[in-house]
Amino acid sequence: MSALKKAVAAVAFVFLSVLLLPACSPADSSSPAGVQGATDHGKTQVFRWKLVTTWPKNLPGLGLAPERFADSLRAMSDGRLDIKVYGAGELVGAFEVFDAVSQGTAQLGHGASYYWRGKIPVAAMFSTVPFGMTAQEMNGWLHYGGGLELWQEVYRPFGLIPLAAGNTGVQMAGWFNKEINSLEDLQGLKMRIPGLGGEVLERAGGTAVSMPGGEVFTALQTGVIDATEWVGPYNDRALGLHTVARYYYYPGWHEPGATTEVIINAEAWQSLPTDLQAMVTAAARAVNDDLLSEFTIRNAQSLKILLEEHDVELRRLPDDVLARLQEAAAEVVAEIAEDDELAQRVHDSYTEHLELISRYHEITEKAYINAR
Ligand code: CA
Repeated sequence: MSALKKAVAAVAFVFLSVLLLPACSPADSSSPAGVQGATDHGKTQVFRWKLVTTWPKNLPGLGLAPERFADSLRAMSDGRLDIKVYGAGELVGAFEVFDAVSQGTAQLGHGASYYWRGKIPVAAMFSTVPFGMTAQEMNGWLHYGGGLELWQEVYRPFGLIPLAAGNTGVQMAGWFNKEINSLEDLQGLKMRIPGLGGEVLERAGGTAVSMPGGEVFTALQTGVIDATEWVGPYNDRALGLHTVARYYYYPGWHEPGATTEVIINAEAWQSLPTDLQAMVTAAARAVNDDLLSEFTIRNAQSLKILLEEHDVELRRLPDDVLARLQEAAAEVVAEIAEDDELAQRVHDSYTEHLELISRYHEITEKAYINAR
């Protein structure tokens, strides 16, 4: 259906709704919801949607991104799209977000695609790849290099539409209670590290543990894990990780620019008028940019505080450790292509763009930063 026909159909639907349901109370939000949480609101149809997230409620950075997304949509739509945000565990658990939105328990989700690696092996490539693309490069690939179209194709069988909705920038390698001076120190290291990074660590001799952010502090404090990565100084400080680990390592080889996602239940999406669909797309794009902007400043401010006020010891991972991890990452990434034909296409598109953009960034971003 063309956009014009959709718009005409939406107007006709609203008109018919007014005609057929004159007694519906505009203020009655407790009346049975219509299709996917829509309620008739006098002359205007109001969509009351739920958004579930993988993040602790109101966690600075990651947790506030979906709140801002919801706030901007409420404002842009003049209340016609009213989204209630649930933190991890409030409606569903962090790792149940994908299924909850796929099944329509919530219309929207916010998280990161690498959490669904067990369900869709190639999904992790849309979030971040060890030694892969930075935030700027991911945005180029996703929005102008065909990446988003592939991502939507991958999620289609699950009745989900993904959009990029945030990026952390290059993360930190994480918090350790023992020094990493050589490859030997990785052997048996039990570390919280999700996605492809976890698989890479395992190949280098460590043990990867996946757990939501809300559980990381206690796991590190009680010695269930020896080390953890989370995000960067801003979010790590919010979790208090500096109080339970001594060494803060860089660079974040495993997450060089993690894209966070908004996932939309496809049926719910189809029930939206085209103007609200356009607002959702624009709000996701805005929060995608906004989160990176916020992290860029807040990470720098927070690192300064961690170093000056909390005696955190900043360390760089040794070159031979990084080289071994990079070698293992190449194996893990190559194997993704073997899953099926679609995984092969995602892998090929990602790696071709990584190579292409990297070459250009050698003489632009990288050369400039080195020269500065
Ligand atoms: Ca991380």
